[in-house]
This record gives sequence, C-alpha cells and structure tokens, in this order.
Amino acid sequence: MAKTDFPVEIRDLVIPGTSGRYVYHCLGCGRDWSIEDLLYTCPECRSVLLIEDREWDRLKKVPGRAWRQLFDYRKMVDHPSLNGIFLYYELIAPVIPLEDVICLGEGHTPVVEANEILQDWVGMQFYVKNDGQNPSASFKDRGMAAAFSYINYAMKRRGLDSVLAICASTGDTSASAALYASYLGKKVKSVVLLPHGKVTPQQLAQPLSNGATVLEIPGVFDDCMKIVEFLADNYPVALLNSKNAWRIKGQESYSYELAQAFNYDLGNHTVVAPIGNAGNITAIISGFLNLYDLGIIDSLPRILGVQSEHANPVYRYYLEPEACNRRFEPVKVRPSVAQAAMIGNPVSMPRVIYLVEKYREIGGYESFLVEEVKEQEIMESMLVANRNGHIVCTQGGEGIAGLRKALKRGIIDRSGVAVVDSTAHVLKFLVFQEKYFTDSFEPEFEIETRESLKNRPRYVCPPDLEKTPADGGVLTEEEFELFVRRTAIEIARILNIDNKG
Ligand SMILES: *Cc1c(COP(=O)(O)O)cnc(C)c1O
Ligand SMILES: [Zn+2]
Repeated sequence: MAKTDFPVEIRDLVIPGTSGRYVYHCLGCGRDWSIEDLLYTCPECRSVLLIEDREWDRLKKVPGRAWRQLFDYRKMVDHPSLNGIFLYYELIAPVIPLEDVICLGEGHTPVVEANEILQDWVGMQFYVKNDGQNPSASFKDRGMAAAFSYINYAMKRRGLDSVLAICASTGDTSASAALYASYLGKKVKSVVLLPHGKVTPQQLAQPLSNGATVLEIPGVFDDCMKIVEFLADNYPVALLNSKNAWRIKGQESYSYELAQAFNYDLGNHTVVAPIGNAGNITAIISGFLNLYDLGIIDSLPRILGVQSEHANPVYRYYLEPEACNRRFEPVKVRPSVAQAAMIGNPVSMPRVIYLVEKYREIGGYESFLVEEVKEQEIMESMLVANRNGHIVCTQGGEGIAGLRKALKRGIIDRSGVAVVDSTAHVLKFLVFQEKYFTDSFEPEFEIETRESLKNRPRYVCPPDLEKTPADGGVLTEEEFELFVRRTAIEIARILNIDNKG
C-alpha cells in the first residue's frame, strides 16, 4: 500500500523516524543511566533496570484512536523493519533507526479459539496465542529482536566490529539468541550456558545448528545465571538474558498484538501466562500499562500468572494480600515439565513488584493474580489441548491448567474471555510427552499417567507374510501385491471397518 493511500491523519506517521529519549531506570535507587552503554544492573546499587522514555508524553499528543488506526494500517506497509514487532515502533524502541532494526519474522503469532470440547473442559471461552510460531519457536524472539537491533545499532554508532553475546538459558533463550546472533554473521559471536541435562534435545540442537558455542554447566538454570552475571560484570560481553532491559521492550509486543487482535477492547479479558524468570510477565504488564496510558485501550485486562508447585516463588510472594507484609524468598526448584519456567529466583522479580503495584492501582487488586498448579495438571492440560487442535508446549499447558484451576477456585469468573500464552511450540518439549506416553517419568515429577491420554505407534505386520520391503532385496510382483493386500486387510481389522463391497 502506498503512503498516499493512508488516511491524512496518520500519513506522516506510517514510516516513523527516530524519536524519544530512552534511559535505563534503576528500580533500586531510582537513578537514570544513559543507553550509550549496554547496562544490565545499576552501576551504583546493582538493582535491575527498566528502559523508560523520558519524552514519553509526546506520544500522548496522538489520540488513542489515531494510534489504533496507525497500527492497523501499518500492517499493510511493506517495510522490512516494520513487519515484525517493530510494527509498534514508537512503543518498542524509537531511538533505534529503522535501518538498524533486525527482523526475522518474529511476532504476529496466531490467536486460535479453543474448540467446544476444550472450552468445556477448561470452563470458559478462551483462545491460545501460539508464540511457538515465532522463528526459533518461542516468544523469546520478541525480546531478541529488540536486543539485537540495539546491539546492531550500538555497534555501528561506536564503530565496534565484534561483540561476544552470552546468555544462560533453560533452552529457549539460547535458541533465540543463537539464531539472531548468527544472522549478524561475524559481527556477533554467540555463547550459551545451559544446565547440563536440563534442556530438551530439540532446544540443545537449536544453538548448535546456529553455530553458537554451547557450554553445559553441572547445575540448574539459577546456577548458570549466576555465572553469566559474573561474566557480564567482569568481562566485555553482551548479556542477553531478560536482565537485559531491551528484551523486555521487545516482549511488550505480545500485549500490543493481543490488544490489536481483540480490537483494542480487553475490558472483559484475562491474559494468562506462565512465570519463570518473570521477564515475560514483566513485559506483558508493562505493555498493557503503556497502551492504557496512551489511551489505546480504555481498560486493563486481568493478568493471570501461573507457576508450578515445583517452582513457585512468585505465587508464594503474592499469597500475602498486604503489600507491606510481602517478603520475597527464592525457592529451591524441583523437576518440572514446565522446564522453561523452572526457576526459583526470578531475575525480574523487582520489576514485577514495581509494575504490579502500578497495575493494581489502575485495575484494582484482582487485575493481577497468580495461580499455582500441579505437574499432573500441567501435563494433562497440554495433552488435552493438543488433542483438540493446538500446538501447546508444557508451559502453555501450565497456563491452561492455571486458568482451569482459577475458575474452579472461583478467583475468576466464567463470563469473560481468556487468552493463554503458549510460549513455545510443542515440538520443543516432546521429551515430556514421550515420558508420559511410555510411563517413564522419574518419581520426582509426581505424575501419574492415564491410559486415556496416551498414544503409541503400533507396528502392523501380518504374521504369515514371508517377505516385506523392510527385509531388503526386491519383492516380486506377487510378493509385493500380497504384502499390500494382507497389510491393508490387517489395518482394516485393527480399525474395525468392513469391506465396501
Ligand atoms: C522462557 C520461557 C518461559 C518463562 O518466561 P520468563 O520470562 O522467564 O518468565 C516460559 N515458557 C517458555 C517456553 C520459555 O521459553
Ligand atoms: Zn540503582
């Protein structure tokens, strides 16, 4: 669509120029720091940072209606930098020139309504947003698109010709970081630290395929995180965990897309997401607050965070209703099928505390809730969802289980509409499906399998057949015909279907 075809009011905004004044804002001491350097923690007090736009109010000069129209029309613009999460450029990172933006097709993931069977099983109308349909098959790509666009931009500005990008990961961060780093070719060398034996084979294959240096550490994610933090504090490396505030900016796009998908009317909606390191929930809260502040949405949706009983520090924190009595305590994690969220000491906890307070101030206490679920419930929710046409990962299953539980406990009501974040593609987490189907869960998972949810392949070979194609050699015409006929009859017998004639 040509620029001249856009409504006059938004014509000049369609292809945006740089604007805004971004700073790292410290949540500990409240100081602002220049974005000139890549900072992860406050140089003064070591607290985590959030990126804020000190010229944010300029965006309020554009009415909410015009923003909505702009974002809707921008979908029709053919500009490589605006095709992904940077469609919401002004809210993501307008300090980065469009030509420095890296877009690998992230974001704009489908929102699919659950079928009747699944809605009945859960107890209300709901949708799944398939963030597994991102380039590296998880929502992490949203954050990496922003973080690597910043790295690309900062390198050009400072004339750097190489950067060492490093992250700790429960699997998906490393897959995503390695993908975006490899796109930048020789400019960025990517190193990932994984907890040995605690990522799935598919997740391990991803950074290997993108040529990253893959280092496995004896420990869990929280241990890997401490090591990369030490490296980032003492060596010249770019940290790509969600401690990196650019990641949060990119992940806010999830909220922008949801608002757009529901025609900017979320007053009756519950947005459900699993919580691990709490970067995703931080971004979701922040994103909706931004939309509200600019008048793009008139009311905030309810946000429901979900954690497993085996990794539940955020749930425990919010059990205490009075803010002044809450005390954050890390937990020691136990094995969880929601392995990507198996984190006992979430790095973004201070961000969650800071943003939830703002969120509840506007939306009320009930606008942010956290639910806890059993491993059993996570597994069954994933399996049941996928039997009804979804591609939900274990963390998506965690979200569905949380929604179901919250309805049963009556902390949310059935009349609204929910959207569950399936944060990755089911194919990344096949090991857990396999453990379920073959009854091989280690006892620590505390999962009892049910026959009705299992599925196994069945080998079909009529016992009286002398030769099959698998035996090697060439079958004669008669042998082959016999093989086809006998096997087909055997299959018909298994399926219990009669001959047409
Ligand atoms: C990283 C991840 C999570 C947890 O997100 P946080 O931002 O760490 O809370 C959940 N699901 C999947 C698939 C992930 O990769
Ligand atoms: Zn500080």
